[in-house]
Amino acid sequence: MKEGELLLRLRSRGWRITPQRRAVVTVLERGARHATAEEVHTAAQFIVPEISLATVYNVLTELVEMGEVAEVRLGRGATLFDVNVAKHYHCICDTCGRIADVPVADQNCCMDLPELAACCCVAESIEVIFHGHCAGCAPKA
Ligand SMILES: [Zn+2]
Ligand SMILES: [Zn+2]
Repeated sequence: MKEGELLLRLRSRGWRITPQRRAVVTVLERGARHATAEEVHTAAQFIVPEISLATVYNVLTELVEMGEVAEVRLGRGATLFDVNVAKHYHCICDTCGRIADVPVADQNCCMDLPELAACCCVAESIEVIFHGHCAGCAPKA
């Protein structure tokens, strides 16, 4: 995502851009993808030093409600905020923890909820997590 793209879209939706909101969006756009609210807060403080964690939470929650940011839970970890709202899976590097997006070619493809999921629970969503190593951590042959 190009910097400013999300901000422009939000502005065109009539979202009032306060310095706090702008800071949160800028942090997300600069590549803090898959960041926890705490991580967004830490980075946003470089832009607006007085921004509170509660404000960051509120802005993130608003963005999620608007469908501009996705909430991602990988395993039992903390909730991450993801600017990629297209359907995709995640690949986690087991060495450095880097999270990469795995695009889904067909947004309507295969990963519909299986009917058999009803045998053990009522499934409401599917999450696919690939584990491996990123380019930097892959063992050299
Ligand atoms: Zn890695
Ligand atoms: Zn993602």
